[in-house]
Amino acid sequence: MALDSFTEGAVHEGAEWSGELYRIASTQFAGTADVLDLDAEARTRLLEPRRALTVNFPIRMDDGSVREFTGYRVQHTLTMGPTKGGFRYAPGVSLGECAALAMWMTWKCALLGLPFGGAKGGVRCDPTQLSAGELERITRRYTAELIPVIGPDRDIPAPDMGTGEREMAWLYDTYSQAMGYSVPAVVTGKPVVLGGVEARQPATGLGCVYVIEALLERLGWPIREQRFVVQGFGNVGRVAARELFAIGAPVVGLSDVTGGIVDPAGLDVDDVAAWVDAEGSLEGYPRAQAVGRSEILETECDILVPAALERQLTSENADRIRCRLVVEAANGPTTPEAESVLADRGIRVVPDVLANAGGVTVSYFEWVQDHQRFTWDGIELQDRLRRMMRAAAIKVWEGSEEHDVDLRTAALTVAVRRVADAGARRGIYP
Ligand code: GLU
Repeated sequence: MALDSFTEGAVHEGAEWSGELYRIASTQFAGTADVLDLDAEARTRLLEPRRALTVNFPIRMDDGSVREFTGYRVQHTLTMGPTKGGFRYAPGVSLGECAALAMWMTWKCALLGLPFGGAKGGVRCDPTQLSAGELERITRRYTAELIPVIGPDRDIPAPDMGTGEREMAWLYDTYSQAMGYSVPAVVTGKPVVLGGVEARQPATGLGCVYVIEALLERLGWPIREQRFVVQGFGNVGRVAARELFAIGAPVVGLSDVTGGIVDPAGLDVDDVAAWVDAEGSLEGYPRAQAVGRSEILETECDILVPAALERQLTSENADRIRCRLVVEAANGPTTPEAESVLADRGIRVVPDVLANAGGVTVSYFEWVQDHQRFTWDGIELQDRLRRMMRAAAIKVWEGSEEHDVDLRTAALTVAVRRVADAGARRGIYP
């Protein structure tokens, strides 16, 4: 009877993280663990995050009212060193979403050989509806709530969706005020004048293009002959599209939250960027055909680069995707169901943990500089980024050829094996 009364209200394992993105991340992990034949102990240690902090805090709004906000910070593994990962401001932020994104950060860092475990955080809000003052108060209060779990050798935040160098500067200042001295290494993606590096802002987009270059060389597909479609014209998509255009690769489609534009002969991406700078979005761009937000993904091309939100390629649209290769510049844009449809159709997917790892790689350079109080020049950082991204891409490619697995499985096996090995060697405390 006693047992019944306990099991009746029982919470099933992992229920804390429930959510679609966590389901995707854990499905991918389970598939990789099977390929690696990981034992139950390693699976237990790697699946769920080690730590999570949920905070609710009040903020005084500009109109004098008080609103409560919910924020999270999730640290996936503490085995590899301090944890690392961005924090986002978006309406869908949840514990499960942060847990999934933290797990992917672990695999990204392991694949690139960076001395970090993965973390992710965020505040549930719509930053487009908040003033700069409200965002500053949210950022400072969120930082203050996080002080027990972050730090230059503990957990190092960075930008993600809806946050940038402005928010990183506020986090840096708030943390430093609490410590009593400046601690630049507590956060990356800072403004250059505060110890940030110029190479950080374009790093994710550039890293993605370096991966594309390396893989196309292996595939024997000349980059200037591939038609690209880039979904998203923010921090990542805009940089990737402009770099592709600069290389001479035709970018035939682009989109942002307002919709898409298409020109089969190739868009002038610099002209599009100038339009967006002046008008605020792609809407109304006169020198291309306008298409809907979802149509852009179905535009015929060779290489589709989803660089916006998660869960864009799903079982609903996977059979209408018309490309030869998908390159995941965003985190989690392809669901496992869509991926198997794409695989059946012969469309390969370059996984997020490789394609968007450029951001955290340059964050690592920034963190090392802050620790050493020494700066490298921008050209050197970009060159290092290129070398590291190419090496990781080639490692993934070779793993996929050697073991006859898809590129995601190849990338995740390299990463998961490394973290599992480190965990086994450190052992279990106590
Ligand atoms: N938020 C970025 C990502 O998803 C970068 C994290 C970082 O620089 O630490 O990879």
